[in-house]
Amino acid sequence: MYLPYFDSTYFLIIIGAVLSLAASARVKTTFAKYSKVRSLSGMTGAQAAERILYSAGIYDVAVMHVSGSLTDHYDPRDKTLKLSDNVYGQSSVAAIGVAAHECGHAIQHDKGYVPLRLRTAIVPVANIGATVSWPLIIIGLFLGYSQTLINLGIILFSCAVLFQLVTLPVEFNASARAVRILDETGILYGEEVTGTKKVLGAAALTYVAAAAASILQLLRLVILFGGRNRD
Ligand SMILES: [Zn+2]
Repeated sequence: MYLPYFDSTYFLIIIGAVLSLAASARVKTTFAKYSKVRSLSGMTGAQAAERILYSAGIYDVAVMHVSGSLTDHYDPRDKTLKLSDNVYGQSSVAAIGVAAHECGHAIQHDKGYVPLRLRTAIVPVANIGATVSWPLIIIGLFLGYSQTLINLGIILFSCAVLFQLVTLPVEFNASARAVRILDETGILYGEEVTGTKKVLGAAALTYVAAAAASILQLLRLVILFGGRNRD
């Protein structure tokens, strides 16, 4: 019986984990740094979000508070923009940057931005893929190495990887929109925009690291189980 853990390909998982941890540490320190920089406009994240949404002609998105740190997100299902503790009521360059980024997602949704629609469409398959790929592979191994089940597991895992890849243009585009809007509307000035770019750039890296980690996991699955003949 083959045990699918702790073989030599496990270093691929470790590389992915290290990349993810490094990116996550970086976004935390960058966010903390620019959380201390108060914006000249004095607007809070919530106020900036409302102003940006109105200026984009969006009046049906509710800006709400959500507890936690870096838990900010836009939920397209009920059109709510949730801003976390250090964003909602704070008037730092970091807070306004994150609020504007989430507005970027609301604007993408409003305009029917194709990568976002694609991402939304992939979500259910990606969730199933992430959940059942390993169980399928393990069942395949138990059933005397059923390559069909194993391949199905690998294909489903690929859907989860595809989701991570489609997330990248969605995230980069939301940040690009955020920076442009903050600059154009004058919500942030000169140096403040540069600070926001750094915060959003660090946040984008976490998505790149997550995508890289999932590609490495897929690579490992293919190396271990991809169409090999077993006795
Ligand atoms: Zn985002």
